[in-house]
Amino acid sequence: MARLLLFDIDGTLLDTGGSGGAALLDAVEEMFGVSRDILRPLELAGATDGGVIQGLFDQVSHPLHQESVKDYFECYLRHLERRLHSSEFTGRTLPGVFELMQTLLQKGQADIGLLTGNIRRGAELKLKRFDLQPFFREGGFGDDAVDRNLLGPIAIQRMSEVTGNSYTHDEVIIIGDTPKDIACAKACGARCLAVGTGHFSSQQLQPYQAWKTLDNLADTGLVSELLLS
Ligand SMILES: [Mg+2]
Repeated sequence: MARLLLFDIDGTLLDTGGSGGAALLDAVEEMFGVSRDILRPLELAGATDGGVIQGLFDQVSHPLHQESVKDYFECYLRHLERRLHSSEFTGRTLPGVFELMQTLLQKGQADIGLLTGNIRRGAELKLKRFDLQPFFREGGFGDDAVDRNLLGPIAIQRMSEVTGNSYTHDEVIIIGDTPKDIACAKACGARCLAVGTGHFSSQQLQPYQAWKTLDNLADTGLVSELLLS
């Protein structure tokens, strides 16, 4: 039995300064010749990329074929990479994240993976932008399921395969920034550490009754103790 920590990306580890959402819209404009101005605002907090794409294809009345989804994601990834490395990029890692990941790695008392609505290659691009990728071994991603609540078991299974450890549900902690992360943890019997660094403040997250709710991950000592005890 071992401790497993599964981190969300956007709003939890980092903020892309809007690059992720902008790249999703760039791809709609390029593929369908539709202006982003006529589309409804994206609701990205806690969403999976697969779910967002369903909504976008629906709005432009394009059938959701496997081939066109694949083309769309390729287009999105190109725009995402360009935006992440643009001179106008304003993204950042969230307070304490790098220090926390280093501390968790040094202590070696937990296996560390991802549970994110990003498609796998999008997640890699975002993490690489901040040199965070080496901390994470595997995970559940937005191309595994449209419903975030299905990603927990997938992430746990994949982590088991790469680490050789098995995890009972009470040994799994999901770290995320939205009510959907909290629901996703409950759906697989895991605990959730919710942080108010994304679209929701810690006060706004309180009613969703995560295992613990913090303003941010800045207090490395406190957070690592919570996650490892
Ligand atoms: Mg998030």
